[in-house]
Amino acid sequence: MTAWDAPADTNAPVQLGDCFRCDRGGVQVIRVGELVGPYGETPLYACRCCVERLVAMGHHTQETPVRPYVGASTW
Ligand SMILES: [Zn+2]
Repeated sequence: MTAWDAPADTNAPVQLGDCFRCDRGGVQVIRVGELVGPYGETPLYACRCCVERLVAMGHHTQETPVRPYVGASTW
């Protein structure tokens, strides 16, 4: 198995683990974010295919946003 080169805009190390999106286990993943709740956070790891899909979704939403970004309320 060859090491996966993670996207250049991330410094996340590639490791073996489970993908939160497609549920495959024992694959190369990188940390893509976390779920934050009142009692802590859960790291999210995604495989190469899912990272590519998420990056494409991100590019698509920047090009054709469904709704404008709404900032957090200050009140
Ligand atoms: Zn996946």
